[in-house]
Amino acid sequence: MDYLPLFFKLTEQPVLLVGGGAVALRKARLLCRSGALVHVVSHQVCADLETLLDESAGQIIIGEYHAGLLDDKVLVIAATDDDQLNERVHFDAVAKGIPVNVVDNPRLCTFVFPAIVDRSPIVIGISSGGAAPVLARLLRARLETWIPRSYSRLAEIAQQFRNQVKARFGSVNHRRMFWESVLQGQVAEKVFAGRDKEAISLIEEKLQQGNPEHQIGEVYLIGGGPGDPELLTFKALRLMQQADIVLYDALVSPAVLDLCRRDADLVFVGKQRDNHAVPQEGINALLVQHALEGKRVVRLKGGDPFIFGRGGEELESLKQHNIPFQVVPGITAASACSTYAGIPLTHRNYAQSVKFITGQLKNRTSDLNFAELVHPNQTLVFYMGLHSLDHLCAELIAHGKPGSTPAAIVSRGTALDQKVLTATLETLPALQAEAQLPAPALIIVGEVVSLHENLSWFGEEVLSQNLTPVKAGH
Ligand code: SAH
Repeated sequence: MDYLPLFFKLTEQPVLLVGGGAVALRKARLLCRSGALVHVVSHQVCADLETLLDESAGQIIIGEYHAGLLDDKVLVIAATDDDQLNERVHFDAVAKGIPVNVVDNPRLCTFVFPAIVDRSPIVIGISSGGAAPVLARLLRARLETWIPRSYSRLAEIAQQFRNQVKARFGSVNHRRMFWESVLQGQVAEKVFAGRDKEAISLIEEKLQQGNPEHQIGEVYLIGGGPGDPELLTFKALRLMQQADIVLYDALVSPAVLDLCRRDADLVFVGKQRDNHAVPQEGINALLVQHALEGKRVVRLKGGDPFIFGRGGEELESLKQHNIPFQVVPGITAASACSTYAGIPLTHRNYAQSVKFITGQLKNRTSDLNFAELVHPNQTLVFYMGLHSLDHLCAELIAHGKPGSTPAAIVSRGTALDQKVLTATLETLPALQAEAQLPAPALIIVGEVVSLHENLSWFGEEVLSQNLTPVKAGH
């Protein structure tokens, strides 16, 4: 280890910064965040730096650097483009035993600035000791996505209880167990869900019980998105990695499922058309049962759980049993398929609104209000409509939508075998009869479909009819 990581307490401490340009500004911002009193010496100081120092009780000395400026300083940073000056600052500081950093010149540094992940009071510094700063920054970016922002608040809350916990549990082991259950269990999840007060009451309760072991579990209703695992949210991934058990649907892609915690039990409760592996009431009951056993239950659904996902019903039954839950949105098929097919759902010239509609019709005479669906300037997106394709197209035309209106089927959107079929309301059923694009598939109807030809960017092209928008602009 060439450098020992240490954390400096700089609050109210005088620090000398030599240089007044953009680089000096970056360092000054960092120093100010830690509460240091920054003294800048330079012939010129940029306006932003001046403002920053104004606001943070810093000082500006316009003029020449000299060694005397180091006398009362605890750190010194040289951020000038004058190599000789930088070197002088280095030797003066070393002579006086003051830690010195010369920006971008490891040879002249007695300390280096790490890449920082700031979740104060939790702070992570990463350094490559000057060997590969870009690598350190890449690592930082990974950690940024992996460590929830709310760790700041969690750490602050933990701090409030430090003394009480010490007084309550005599042995180090008990204290460690207590903190582990607080920092990765329900208390932490409450903080992540923005419920700090409830988190604090929970800690107080746990302190009284003195037994951190058994408690009720929790359910995470998670949108697994359309299939491509890269479209998961950070939050979804984090909770999936905590699961004791995962109840998942048919639409959840194997690649997404693969990201759940290795030791979690994976239970398929999927619904396929006309074949429910587990009926809805059964799923509701399973969620309750596992949570009451104290497990962290992930309920993983395709797309977004609140869009044609019956997520609401599952939560109602949890609520009845006072089981805590969190809901994580996912990218719904309409968003995913339209973006991956290069079909914007709205467009200044063609569509000012978009409707998400279920195409699964209870009976053939249809419960949909087609008269309302045929209005111009809107995009229609039918979920679960593939089996009623002929009927949907025919009804839209019968109710006055022009047969030439562009329409598309996006099959297995975002998967590597995604297929897009574009046509018109009139021609789409016959083309699909020929192409037989498989489910899951989404039907998009509206002028915006004609943009696919230009904006398509993902996957292989299949059959497509050339389309000209019916209405080209306002
Ligand atoms: N909650 C889900 C929708 C569930 S309904 C969501 O928000 O996306 C199931 C329907 O979603 C399917 O019949 C199909 O129309 C659509 N769908 C889901 N994933 C899809 C995909 N990858 N490609 C195309 N359509 C999809």
